[in-house]
Amino acid sequence: MKKRLVILGAGESGFGTAVLGLRQGYDVFVSDIGKVKEHYAAKMREWKIEYEEGKHTEDKILNADLVMKSPGIPDTVPIVQKIRRAGIPVVSEIEFASWFTQAKIVGITGSNGKTTTTALTYHILKNGGLNVGLGGNIGQSFAYQVAMCQYDYYVLEISSFQLDDIEKFRPQVAVLTNITPDHLDRYDYELKNYVRAKFNITRNQGPDDYFVYCADDPITAQYMTTCPGAARKIPFSQERELPEGGYVKDNHIIIHINQNQFTMSIQELGLTGRHNVYNSLAAGIVANVYGLRKEQIRESLADMRSLEHRMETVAKIRNIEFINDSKATNVNSAWYALESINKPIIWIAGGVDKGNDYSVLEPLVRKKVKAMICLGLDNTKLHAAFGKMVDVIINVTSMHDAVRMAYSLGVPGDCVLLSPACASFDLFENYEDRGKKFKEAVIQL
Ligand code: ADP
Repeated sequence: MKKRLVILGAGESGFGTAVLGLRQGYDVFVSDIGKVKEHYAAKMREWKIEYEEGKHTEDKILNADLVMKSPGIPDTVPIVQKIRRAGIPVVSEIEFASWFTQAKIVGITGSNGKTTTTALTYHILKNGGLNVGLGGNIGQSFAYQVAMCQYDYYVLEISSFQLDDIEKFRPQVAVLTNITPDHLDRYDYELKNYVRAKFNITRNQGPDDYFVYCADDPITAQYMTTCPGAARKIPFSQERELPEGGYVKDNHIIIHINQNQFTMSIQELGLTGRHNVYNSLAAGIVANVYGLRKEQIRESLADMRSLEHRMETVAKIRNIEFINDSKATNVNSAWYALESINKPIIWIAGGVDKGNDYSVLEPLVRKKVKAMICLGLDNTKLHAAFGKMVDVIINVTSMHDAVRMAYSLGVPGDCVLLSPACASFDLFENYEDRGKKFKEAVIQL
């Protein structure tokens, strides 16, 4: 008899899992409590996948042999609790998909820098001639690609939610970019639970696998002593030289691994800013693990361009530079944005505060920010944090007003930076919408 696979959530990972499930001979049912996006509804009809929306019919769910829970669904929702109580195994999409591929996997997780490091690693491996797919939170789901493509390698961006429900998932190379408190609402407000999910990326690794991590990151370093798994641990750092791993010396990145040394000037890196030195070190280590030609790695690290909404230069008007860093939805990423700019900054920040502690930004704000534009429905925390140290601090409720105000305050040589340190959904659909509106407003100036 066919095994029954029930999929909760009909988005990218749900649809991909359904296709893979069908191809692997499962009896597949997809259930989504919300409205299914037309894009996925049409695809599911095309594939003749049985699905429901706006409800969870228990009779069709609790008879499952296996459940795939989409990463957006918290464990606390009643249907998940019932599934668990019924003893039905619950896995994430990456876990399920990994059962059906022999490809070698590079899995990249962390609080910040996942997408950038994943895109950069993929860029290097692809240019290096490997038959490699890109997936996870970027683009097409891993499951769909396992069903439809024949890659030898995958570079996957993996969120902590995907790592919550793994059993055997074992990347050959795992990368943990950093850990800062984020999404704690999904982890009972316990940092250690979130940290444990992140470290799951290395849990099943063996002695021939690699675990690449940031030795400068205090939370990662603290938990390394209890790091699960048996992987070879390869650190990277900008603060000290390391016998093995990646580090910075005399304005060069140096990667030392398997008796090989790779060197490249920081000036030549395509992605700029201190955070991107970390990301380049991590991606460079992966490329060196796979023994790609040094010239090729150097070329790819040099010609990579920043992704949309991440320290993206939009325009220079009257010699005032406009930078879109809408993806900076937490304090840590905004810190790197402020740190990397060496001109007076007119800073557009604010939105939905996820319990932010702004104190780490104070030294940078004192030194660099000449004016602050608070773009959120409730800006009280920003005023409390920075009101005394920034001369001009103004509230606005539209991107159009934010950009016009910033422009009127600017003089040649300044930089207008959108790096909100907050989520976007009080005034925008998501961070992409916020970034796009910023760019539109800049172009209209
Ligand atoms: P993620 O996918 O983890 O959200 P992104 O690569 O999309 O990460 O970057 C998110 C934000 O964090 C952007 O504002 C970016 O400039 C910043 N950022 C990128 N890499 C790092 C890093 N290594 N450390 C801190 N911030 C980073």
